[in-house]
Amino acid sequence: MIFEAEWVVPISQQPIRQGAVRVIDGQITEVGLASELRRDHPDEETRNFEAAVLLPGFVNAHVHLEYSVFRGLFDDCSFGDWMLRFMPAKRTLGEKEYLTSALVGAAECVSSGITTVGDTVSDGRAMVNAAKTFGLRGYAFQEAFGMDDTLIRDCLNGLEEKLWRLRAMAPPLVKVGISPHAPYTVSGQLFRALSAYALKNGLKVMTHMAESVEEVTFVRNGSGVLAHDFRELAGWDDLMWMPTGTSVVKYLEQWDALDPDVIGVHLVQVSPSDIDVLAKYDVAVAHCPKSNAKLGCGIAPVGDFLERGLRVGIGTDSLASNNILDMFDEMRMVIFLQRADQRRTTCIGAEQVLQMATLGGAQVLGLADEVGSLEAGKRADLVAVDMKHSHFSPIDDPASAVVYGANQEDVFFTMIDGRVVYDNKQFLTADADEIRSEATAIRSKLRG
Ligand SMILES: [Zn+2]
Repeated sequence: MIFEAEWVVPISQQPIRQGAVRVIDGQITEVGLASELRRDHPDEETRNFEAAVLLPGFVNAHVHLEYSVFRGLFDDCSFGDWMLRFMPAKRTLGEKEYLTSALVGAAECVSSGITTVGDTVSDGRAMVNAAKTFGLRGYAFQEAFGMDDTLIRDCLNGLEEKLWRLRAMAPPLVKVGISPHAPYTVSGQLFRALSAYALKNGLKVMTHMAESVEEVTFVRNGSGVLAHDFRELAGWDDLMWMPTGTSVVKYLEQWDALDPDVIGVHLVQVSPSDIDVLAKYDVAVAHCPKSNAKLGCGIAPVGDFLERGLRVGIGTDSLASNNILDMFDEMRMVIFLQRADQRRTTCIGAEQVLQMATLGGAQVLGLADEVGSLEAGKRADLVAVDMKHSHFSPIDDPASAVVYGANQEDVFFTMIDGRVVYDNKQFLTADADEIRSEATAIRSKLRG
């Protein structure tokens, strides 16, 4: 089948005006001028999206779909307070409620043009089921926690069991990785053990790193809210924690926790010498600008990451710290925060940030051979963005129109692996109203 639009933005090449993408059995076989594809395949079924921009699906490099019902609950907290309020709230929900929560997030993904997620999971069954329901592609990174070094063996055994369970139930488009949660919830010894486990088993690893000043204070000085209130809440207050006197990135290097299969989420609190370390180990970056800004954590030096050749994708993080899963909003935030911070307009532009939100994210997750751009041979993850009703008119630069002018409501068609999951703004695989009403009931319980 041939899909035509006023603009096709393949990412891997310049935008094509009156372009088309040919899809056969879930795979892209040709990308080019609509007139040429039609001429070469006169009998093929064609769909013309007209005044729309056809893009590869967005790759949300870091999210937690199962936390979607916490949207807007902790709007004005600092990072430390947010963590202290979020942790007990998480314990109040059960398996079925987490499934509903993940469905809320997955629905928002496909209706926003997100076709691939790098999802960090606590109970992965929710995410895997939600991905299956909506046809999402991506990774489920199973979280691991532990500050008590006498329990490392138990932690690894428990993790292995969860990974087997996830692999057994995951649909073909969902891969499984691991996520040592963060330096304030995983001991150095456990980081080392988990890295060795990942290396041995060829697994991708996603870790929250250098997100907040609180985390820096914890690692460097052994003090602050994460050393006291948080550890008490987690039941780790009897365990010894010594100041390390070093940065988060260098601390993780000391425990062999950095390598090219590691995706560092956030990386806000980093110095130029930390970036040298990240470059030395070729760590990939999931940049979450809105979540970082909302929690008052700061702005990651994305321009420096790109200059050093690091792979960078964009993540929304969970709806507990970012109220919408809107990659358009996220792309604008990447650009505007860098420009506001550096007081110059030459750091990052529309084309570059669009690349980060698609191919960049695919590179971060190791999926760039399959998705991230519209190219012959890749899987057909396509998104159509409506420009007819957009405020962004006239259009002669589709990257500019999409990045500066569009938002999640402008997406009206989403295809993943050749399967249409959202069309004319309707979900084709699930009843979104039913999910919404179940989520409302859970929310009342959370508000108590
Ligand atoms: Zn996160």
